[in-house]
Amino acid sequence: MTDRIRLTIWNEFRHEKVHDSVKKVYPDGLHATLAKNLAKAGQFDIRTATLDEPEHGLAEKVLAKTDVLTWWGHMAHKEVGDEIVARVKKRVLDGMGLIVLHSGHFSKIFRALMGTSCALKWREADEKERLWTIEPGHPIAQGIGEYIELPNHEMYGERFDIPQPDEQVFISWFEGGDIFRSGCCWRRGHGRIFYFSPGHETYPIYENPQIIRVIANAVRWAAPLVNMPSDSCPNTKPLETIRSKRKS
Ligand code: ZN
Repeated sequence: MTDRIRLTIWNEFRHEKVHDSVKKVYPDGLHATLAKNLAKAGQFDIRTATLDEPEHGLAEKVLAKTDVLTWWGHMAHKEVGDEIVARVKKRVLDGMGLIVLHSGHFSKIFRALMGTSCALKWREADEKERLWTIEPGHPIAQGIGEYIELPNHEMYGERFDIPQPDEQVFISWFEGGDIFRSGCCWRRGHGRIFYFSPGHETYPIYENPQIIRVIANAVRWAAPLVNMPSDSCPNTKPLETIRSKRKS
């Protein structure tokens, strides 16, 4: 791995084309805003990829040169090809980091890696969200302080049907009374996965410096420490002489 982390920002890029309320917030697409802000936040070599590109912008050669992939999707999860999902999953198991954002909780790739429905409660009521940092010593929480406050956001609430996270970094409180596990870490094979819930498309969440800081920290945390097949199953010779073998 080079010192600079090779980051691919994947976005469905549909809402921005058809909904004026989203176009206003992300005129060039949410991926362009993430790319612009993450470029200032870390030593990243950034490329973007979107659903309507050939192979959704995730050709083998692109994934081979990706250390960490971020994923935002919502209205077109079903249009993501199963072959591409299998390809991304294999790369995660072999070491690539994956950061799943907001409505990506229902993406094929996240559900495939979690093995559960990833369903949750939701409500669009323009309410306040406070994300509490519950593991201030975690690399992803560095520089964040005690909490992040979003003055208005969509509510995502429990129960969130995920496997128990390996590490829980943030938990959200919502003005309407719900709570949510908003920053969760898992390992699958050699890869690291972080789910981070902020990012409803009608709010400029990805212009918020604290949110960008969390994502940049997560990219560094998820960068591969190894990059090797996780599914080899070799028949192997003993290192020492085995003396307890039964006589035939
Ligand atoms: Zn949303």
